[in-house]
Amino acid sequence: MSKHSQQKRIGIVGVPPLAVIRELEAEGATIFDLDEPLVKRDIELASSYLPRVFCAILRTVIINGLSLKLDRIYIDVGPGKCDCALHTATILADILPETTVITTRNQDRNDFGTPLCTSQMPLIDKISAITRSVQSTKPYQDLPACVPTAGFWGVPPRDFSLLSLFPETTHVYGWTRCMENKTPDNQKLEELYNSDIPTVFFAQSFCAKTALARHLANKHPHGLYVDCDVTAGNSAKAKIEAFLELSKPQKRECKGSKPEFCLLSSDLLNS
Ligand code: SF4
Repeated sequence: MSKHSQQKRIGIVGVPPLAVIRELEAEGATIFDLDEPLVKRDIELASSYLPRVFCAILRTVIINGLSLKLDRIYIDVGPGKCDCALHTATILADILPETTVITTRNQDRNDFGTPLCTSQMPLIDKISAITRSVQSTKPYQDLPACVPTAGFWGVPPRDFSLLSLFPETTHVYGWTRCMENKTPDNQKLEELYNSDIPTVFFAQSFCAKTALARHLANKHPHGLYVDCDVTAGNSAKAKIEAFLELSKPQKRECKGSKPEFCLLSSDLLNS
């Protein structure tokens, strides 16, 4: 049998513990991040197994699981992910008899750092690099932190096109920051934000994190709460665009060394 045919095809959901990733690296497995849209199939196919009114990331996991002929799936279901993933694991185990579904509860406490979150690069590239970093046990290279002009708080969205609206100098917060730090169950880090920069608090529709995202957006002096389902609709995109545009540093009017932000529309804040 060739080396290639022995290579195991492994799906991961969420951030499995580092010990699992280390084992997968040692066995030379091919890893698929099932949280991301990996196959071109209609998400409606998931509706036979999960309600339509359910997190679009986990509906995507079902579509990927049905399509990719995986040997094993490691699905994190503890406080570092969510109960929706726990129930999705039960469903995956029932509908994929050829695949071994293994639940994990990642309580890793070793901080890897978050250089990507504070670096300067297009936000799509930054969050893609963060999601890829979950598949590796290597420490991060140092990257210089940029002066932030905007913040993105939340999980990596199902629809990355949302991220193209943000400037390269956007700092990343929320569960995405916990992902880069390899501590998905880190409430304190997840709740961190920078009140000096206008911040979009994003959550997937039908996720429990919508409550935290909206709460933090209300506490933040320049926060905007947004939730999206399968794709980011025009109205959500227009709202983010307007918010970021209106929150640009107003250097002429505002004195001082730190950039200041003069929001022109309070309507955006509470919608
Ligand atoms: S977005 Fe929310 S509901 Fe969906 S997988 Fe992540 S934590 Fe779970």
